[in-house]
Amino acid sequence: MPKINYRTVEEIELIRESSLLVSKTLGEIAKEIGPGIKTIELNKLAETFIRDNGGVPAFLNYHGFPYSLCISLNDQVVHGFPSQHVLVEGDVVSVDCGVILNKYYGDSAFTFAIGEISETAKTLMRVTRECLDKGVEKAVAGMRIGDIGYAVQEHAEKHGFGVVKELVGHGVGTHLHEKPEVPNYGRRGSGTKLEEGMVIAIEPMINAGRAGVKFWDDGWTVSTVDGKPSAHYEHTVAIRKGKVDILSTFSYVDNILQEKNKN
Ligand code: MG
Ligand code: MG
Repeated sequence: MPKINYRTVEEIELIRESSLLVSKTLGEIAKEIGPGIKTIELNKLAETFIRDNGGVPAFLNYHGFPYSLCISLNDQVVHGFPSQHVLVEGDVVSVDCGVILNKYYGDSAFTFAIGEISETAKTLMRVTRECLDKGVEKAVAGMRIGDIGYAVQEHAEKHGFGVVKELVGHGVGTHLHEKPEVPNYGRRGSGTKLEEGMVIAIEPMINAGRAGVKFWDDGWTVSTVDGKPSAHYEHTVAIRKGKVDILSTFSYVDNILQEKNKN
């Protein structure tokens, strides 16, 4: 079984650069996403932006994945295919992006509301993002993987939402998916100890209804068993002593969305 990689300060700065390019790409998506756009157009935009900035889309051809982004609509949880589908008011769209830059990976995801969405979907999005924040808060040296999972699960279930168990966060560095696994559930004080130099992607996938998911025949798409919406937010985080160090950022997306809301 592969071991956990502990990264040097220099390596962490490279992963930060990759994660920043992911964050900026999600910012570009935020500019264009809305009613009337096809999800395949968002994929094209992301691929062009990543390559123009010297990166390579990390998902493209990953175990045969055919696109640069995972775009998961409504009841789709993760790993959805960009397509000719035209977004409409009320859609909830999770966009997951990864890049390789200077041989290092960054990974981040954000869920977008298309126009006015249901109250349930709004709450789901807010709570899932809060779950990410609560998980990230635990990502400091000395804590354990189970502390992250517990924080995420406790917050989601408190609101009556389902925590996806079949898919988990992961180490990230010179590969997209490294050790350790980072589940969105767990017991406090259990699991691998977080130590300086570890870099992990924390990515709560939270369902408005039941926790169960189904895997599609396309080999990729994952959706909820009950057809209710799902949300997904993800950050790449470096483990440090005494402080949280988030390598990706939602500031680009948040700024764009704020601007759009003014208009
Ligand atoms: Mg991701
Ligand atoms: Mg990930």
